[in-house]
Amino acid sequence: MLEKVDEIRKAALQACSQASSVKDLEQARVRFLGKKGELTLLLRSTGQLPPEERPGFGRLVNELRDELEAVWAEREEQLFQEEEERRLMAETLDITLPGRAVARGGVHPITRIIEDTKAIFMQLGYEVVEGPEVELDYYNFEALNIPPDHPARDMQDTFFINERLLLRSQTSPVQIRVMENRKPPIRILAPGKVYRADSDITHSPMFHQIEGLVVDRGITFADLKGTLELFAQRMFGSHTKIRLRPSYFPFTEPSAEVDVSCIMCGGTGCRVCKDSGWLEILGSGMVDPRVLAGVGYNPQEVSGFAFGMGVERIAMLKYGISDIRLFFENDVRFLKQLGSEGGHLC
Ligand SMILES: [Zn+2]
Repeated sequence: MLEKVDEIRKAALQACSQASSVKDLEQARVRFLGKKGELTLLLRSTGQLPPEERPGFGRLVNELRDELEAVWAEREEQLFQEEEERRLMAETLDITLPGRAVARGGVHPITRIIEDTKAIFMQLGYEVVEGPEVELDYYNFEALNIPPDHPARDMQDTFFINERLLLRSQTSPVQIRVMENRKPPIRILAPGKVYRADSDITHSPMFHQIEGLVVDRGITFADLKGTLELFAQRMFGSHTKIRLRPSYFPFTEPSAEVDVSCIMCGGTGCRVCKDSGWLEILGSGMVDPRVLAGVGYNPQEVSGFAFGMGVERIAMLKYGISDIRLFFENDVRFLKQLGSEGGHLC
């Protein structure tokens, strides 16, 4: 039995010194000192010895266990240090390397026009409201004085989802939704995405509109003109003039197209304004009494004006861009060029 103790001691010390990692060392510890380890089993076999030899043998085995535990602890500390050193060496930082620049984002030109327009009208006391993009036919057409057989429906190539549902072709339905739920005075601005089956260099199947609506007692065409003049001057510069031309929209009467003096040539005539000196920017008019009556207002008591503009159109004029698709291709070089222009009104 004594030889067995010596044998285990030698094997254990060898395993300990040969372990090349903390993990190896732990495996060796389990093999010799674990619950089912060789030394533990040896101690259990004490019972097979004659009674007078048992205490001496037990002491011997326990001494060996103390010795091995001390050797293990020392070796473990040593291996741990070595591993830590290797890890730190591998992680060495080169503090002379220049940092990686973080790419800075910018505001998309379309977002900028929307935000600037919102800021202009919010200063005039308008409230910004939104409506659904998937809209009922009723709100997109019927409530806006465009019944199913109305020729104005041909003016818009609408994406229908089914007979009653469509992708809104204008932001005007928001007017109806607001008027249905509130009493005058109303002063709202409704920006958002609209959809039409149309695609070329000046038309996109998805684009943005901003709709404005004012309803109160005594609102006149002069209020409409004054408001839009102020908007044009804040958006395009204080020298900007506006011009109203008679037009037709089903939900306004009378209606007017609004032009601004050409922002490229100042009105003297150039390629952009086709030598006319004017650029068309939006449609407007006095809210048709039928529309007011349709939402339960009394057209004898209140009146109002509405206007709607295409955000892309405004952006194309303001930034001198001839192809609408550039806004949606999101070529970073294009966006950067506009992003560096500044001139944000907010
Ligand atoms: Zn011009």
